[in-house]
Amino acid sequence: MPLKFDFCPYCQRKIVFNLTEADIDTAHYPSPIYIHHTDKTCDKTSTFYVDSLLRVSYKELDKKESITGNKVKTVNTIGTR
Ligand SMILES: [Zn+2]
Repeated sequence: MPLKFDFCPYCQRKIVFNLTEADIDTAHYPSPIYIHHTDKTCDKTSTFYVDSLLRVSYKELDKKESITGNKVKTVNTIGTR
């Protein structure tokens, strides 16, 4: 189920994005992924940490580096409601 529903930690609005295991660093969990809120009134990027089932464990406002040293991908939100 790649479609994820969550809240942007900057503007607290509902966001929707697609996430698959191919997007994340599976070497270590929770794995960081940058979520870019693609909205002209927000336009902020935060770090979401997901577990092996791609469930969001926690979020950080800044773009955090991966502790494995692997590149963290950026995923754009699909839209807000
Ligand atoms: Zn936002």
